[in-house]
Amino acid sequence: MDTTPHPLTGQARRLAEDLLAPHAQRIDQEGVPLSHVDALRASGLLGTSAPTAYGGAGAPDAIAREVQEILAGACCSTWFVQTQHHTPVRLLARSESSARDSLLRPLATGALMAGIAYAHVRAYPRALVSATPQGRGWRFDGAVPWYTGWGLNDVMLLAGISDEAEVVFAFADARDQPGLEASPPMRLAALSASRTVSLKLDGLWLPEASVMLRAAQETWARHDAARGANASPAVFGVAYAALRLLEQTSGTAESSRTLRVRLDEVRWRAYTLAEHPEPEEHLAERLHLRTQAYHLMRAATTAAVVAGGGRTMDLDSPAQRLAREGMFLLIQGQTAQARSAHLRSLTAAVELRHQPLEGEV
Ligand SMILES: Cc1cc2nc3c(=O)[nH]c(=O)nc-3n(C[C@H](O)[C@H](O)[C@H](O)COP(=O)(O)OP(=O)(O)OC[C@H]3O[C@@H](n4cnc5c(N)ncnc54)[C@H](O)[C@@H]3O)c2cc1C
Repeated sequence: MDTTPHPLTGQARRLAEDLLAPHAQRIDQEGVPLSHVDALRASGLLGTSAPTAYGGAGAPDAIAREVQEILAGACCSTWFVQTQHHTPVRLLARSESSARDSLLRPLATGALMAGIAYAHVRAYPRALVSATPQGRGWRFDGAVPWYTGWGLNDVMLLAGISDEAEVVFAFADARDQPGLEASPPMRLAALSASRTVSLKLDGLWLPEASVMLRAAQETWARHDAARGANASPAVFGVAYAALRLLEQTSGTAESSRTLRVRLDEVRWRAYTLAEHPEPEEHLAERLHLRTQAYHLMRAATTAAVVAGGGRTMDLDSPAQRLAREGMFLLIQGQTAQARSAHLRSLTAAVELRHQPLEGEV
């Protein structure tokens, strides 16, 4: 069996060890700098899943997951900024739109970096952003609650809902312009460093040529729910980073061993299922594994705080950063199905653990 690491995982490890991890505490407080984005562009990692014909690496999904795990475990804020980019790349690679011809190559090579503005479409039938045909293009109106990477990325993939219940995805320049205004960067409990803003859209007009996809909302929601049922590699990345911290602290051998064995098992099962050829099958099991991954990540990050004691409350402590990053991952990319599966599991865990006290009925 060939055990040589894929060049991209080697590249991700180098970036993680030489740049991302050593500066993660500072970046968490100060924000992801353009120099980190430049390093990502130069690394070739932005083209991990892009077709080779367009200058990408065409790497298998298993490698893409490993790369994302490594980056998230090193600096979750930088990971989050760059992870947005991969959705437009994957969608463009499958699309037959003219946007593919103009954008796929620069996105695959890292000449351009993309962000996304589409989580709000999950709120349907509430149309937070409407898309209306106008001339030879579309106008977008409404409010995008979350947009990450403002000032760092170049283009955004924006989604709105039409009167015909179609989801319309189009590319726009990621900068203030007539019809598009960004809020100041948000101050958040975690990931403030990701330069996340909200966007006000007031008649932003985009030409037909920038439209990448139009799909019935129902069809899109089904695909989105299936995609959102899988465990995120970032959850494993943060969990393993917390375990490494735990392992460096004395008196934690048994706890870290138990958590690592369980995490390895859930990761293996989740990734095996992610390779299943039918993404809309085994949804209950996918959601179960996604939830188990959350429980283990919370256990690992909490254990790192507990083992490190009071000094983990210092903002220079990686344990508190990982715990906050883990908290953010609990809601990142949350669909209605993932939300209720997670809530059910949290309740069940508490009910199971409740042992009646003597004399209690
Ligand atoms: C720091 C940060 C950065 C982000 N950056 C981006 C970004 O760059 N681009 C982007 O597109 N998104 C971004 N998001 C959005 C992120 O993916 C969403 O937060 C996540 O999907 C949770 O959704 P929500 O908070 O927008 O919606 P919520 O209203 O919390 O809904 C989440 C899901 O649960 C469902 N739901 C909500 N309430 C109920 C209920 N009572 N009963 C049943 N179902 C319910 C909703 O329909 C939806 O599917 C960011 C979020 C954060 C916190």
